Amino acid sequence: MKDSLAFEIVVVGAGPAGLAAACTASERARSVAIVDDNPAPGGQIWRGEARTPWIERARSSPVQLLTETQVVASPGEPALLAARGDRPVEIRYEKLILATGARERFLPFPGWTRPNVLGAGGLQALVKGGMPIAGKRVIVAGSGPLLLAVAAYLRRQGAKIAMVAEQASRGAVLKFARTVARSPSKLMQTLGLMRDLAGVPYRTGCWPVEAAQGEVKFRRGGRTWSEPCDYLACGFGLVPNTELAALLGCTSQDGFVAVDSRQQTTQPGVYCAGEPTGIGGAGLAIVEGRIAGYSATGRPDEARRLFAERDRGNRFRIKLQEAFRLRPELAALARPETIVCRCEDVSFGRIAEHRGWQAIKMQTRCGMGPCQARICGPAVDFLLGIPADSVRPPIFPVPAGLLAEDL
Ligand SMILES: Cc1cc2nc3c(=O)[nH]c(=O)nc-3n(C[C@H](O)[C@H](O)[C@H](O)COP(=O)(O)OP(=O)(O)OC[C@H]3O[C@@H](n4cnc5c(N)ncnc54)[C@H](O)[C@@H]3O)c2cc1C
Repeated sequence: MKDSLAFEIVVVGAGPAGLAAACTASERARSVAIVDDNPAPGGQIWRGEARTPWIERARSSPVQLLTETQVVASPGEPALLAARGDRPVEIRYEKLILATGARERFLPFPGWTRPNVLGAGGLQALVKGGMPIAGKRVIVAGSGPLLLAVAAYLRRQGAKIAMVAEQASRGAVLKFARTVARSPSKLMQTLGLMRDLAGVPYRTGCWPVEAAQGEVKFRRGGRTWSEPCDYLACGFGLVPNTELAALLGCTSQDGFVAVDSRQQTTQPGVYCAGEPTGIGGAGLAIVEGRIAGYSATGRPDEARRLFAERDRGNRFRIKLQEAFRLRPELAALARPETIVCRCEDVSFGRIAEHRGWQAIKMQTRCGMGPCQARICGPAVDFLLGIPADSVRPPIFPVPAGLLAEDL
């Protein structure tokens, strides 16, 4: 027998967007729940860290926090099926706000699956969870401002950061720096990171080409050389988590969930906020979450007052996207024998024989393992221009018994 819960507003995701949406909605709604698969609220940026105002506000509000609860399917609207441990929970809603965030993008290159190569945010999460990093020599590589945040965090925990390698060109990064300089809060944040990283080389136009035990080969301006390190922390930007929205029938545009000015998706009563609608950082996620919270509780005037702030956030998001666009050379790093799908051990050579995502899945099992194409899907899209566009329930692996009643 599954548990059954019902709320007026259900928010999926307890990151900045979801917390802001739930707190805002709770000012008016009869009942609000926020569902997240982590043990504590905070999402990617605040996970396991000191309490933040939004976490404190959620805890002192009537919002019910359902942590360690992962939404895996929608057995028929308006309800979600979630897994709590190995127990199924049905969560019914009148209005739904999706704030499912984003994950890191990994690009395959020889050696990227070695144990000393981790996601940049992934290594940060492991260290926040207690992994000792003091004294370890770490190189942080890939693309985007997250590299600096991760490098600064790891250095504060005692890691020796040998280099930060950014694939974007120096010109693109300098242009972005001028955008940052126009926002006092972002400028302060950046100056803080620069202070934390004083003395650490920040190499633009530089990317990893091969990882081996104890060293990684880099390329920059036609030169290739090896750098010794204990860990390579590597991430090429973020990919939105749009699977649940797709399952609910929400339309996507350019890989992101399409929303109107009220953050409503193409499905009536279903709203979306934060990184699934565009990768723009925590500030924009919070504004979008608040707009979604106001809209879902019938307060269009309050929502409208935040439109100008969201417009500013969106202008910054576009500059971010332009500055850290991935260079085509990165698509040429994988060799035929390089593994692209880690779950099912599928090499690039085998995947490249096929023309469409369905054929790739059917013929090679790429995307059919536990990650359900969350890692290999964006990689195949980047390498071959073939989007992983099929989503089926359950969107995360769950024990078969949990599904027996519902799918
Ligand atoms: C690995 C990683 C590390 C990052 N580190 C930093 C950093 O140090 N500094 C920084 O400025 N920015 C960082 N960012 C970027 C930052 O997370 C975002 O800018 C911002 O937090 C986005 O907020 P959000 O609410 O949209 O999403 P998130 O903060 O990603 O929150 C989404 C939440 O939804 C949960 N979720 C998703 N799907 C489900 C489901 N089906 N069922 C239940 N729960 C679900 C996720 O587990 C997560 O807790 C990081 C991003 C990533 C991916």
